[in-house]
Amino acid sequence: MPRLAVLGYPVSHSRSPAMQNAALEALGLGDEWSYGAVEVAPEDFATKVHKMAAGDYVGVNVTIPHKAAALALADVVDEKADWIGAANTLSFAEGEITADNTDAEGLYNALPEHLQWGDGLMGRRALVLGAGGAARAAVCSLGGAEARVDVWNRTPSRAEALCANRRSLPVTAPVQGEYDLIVNTTAVGLRGEDPFAHLPLDPDRFDPRQVVVDMVYGERPSALLRAAAASGATTVDGLEILVQQGALSLQLWTDLEAPLDVMRAAAIG
Ligand code: NAP
Repeated sequence: MPRLAVLGYPVSHSRSPAMQNAALEALGLGDEWSYGAVEVAPEDFATKVHKMAAGDYVGVNVTIPHKAAALALADVVDEKADWIGAANTLSFAEGEITADNTDAEGLYNALPEHLQWGDGLMGRRALVLGAGGAARAAVCSLGGAEARVDVWNRTPSRAEALCANRRSLPVTAPVQGEYDLIVNTTAVGLRGEDPFAHLPLDPDRFDPRQVVVDMVYGERPSALLRAAAASGATTVDGLEILVQQGALSLQLWTDLEAPLDVMRAAAIG
């Protein structure tokens, strides 16, 4: 019985089991494959993963706080995961652990089509808020598509460190109206905080030509996306990115095209 799981600490809030089990069912794999949630403390993470890899697990998703540790224990590391410095997907085959990061491509796939096609992002101005793992994935994705990326972070030194040798520039006072795309990768909003009290954004300064992405998923739509939509901006929420990154992980494990609509419906619950 091939098994899959998400590993986190905590992990009970994760929408991945519902989403991935619905996808396995839709692909006709529901009787054989299963996807669970495993809470594992940081000190137990490596031992747990090696045990799973030696057992009947085909792979795992990895969430906070294990993404850097997942990269460190892999035998083979995909180029994007290496660049981002974190892995959200591990695959186990032939005694080897392979690390991938599908957050970057998941974000890209969640963007409106006019930004994806052709040179859609080339030369566009993007503001990434945050400097953690999700921010590095966003910079990888947008910078890789040749957008001009600025990075703001509450702790400026972390934005500077992120931008060193990466396709982006640190900023301390971004001018909201200058950006075609604004991506919140901070944890602000996760616990109901007012985004406009913590981020360098004004709820009344979005405009209809902007695309605003909130990677945080909890309340839907988030306060950030509500304000952006009220100004006519196009919005992309964190649940769509969760679905897109999960679809890419599932494709890595099964080699099958993931049923996006089924996953989307199951993730919403
Ligand atoms: P992380 O590495 O812990 O980084 C957290 C970031 O949030 C840091 O930049 C931190 O700034 C900032 N932050 C936290 N509290 C803040 C506050 N009150 N005001 C301003 N900034 C604050 O976490 P991560 O892995 O990058 O994940 C960040 C968020 O993205 C999480 O909510 C996660 O669930 C979400 N995410 C979603 C998806 C998806 O599929 N939708 C995928 C990945 C991540 P400092 O450096 O100053 O501490």
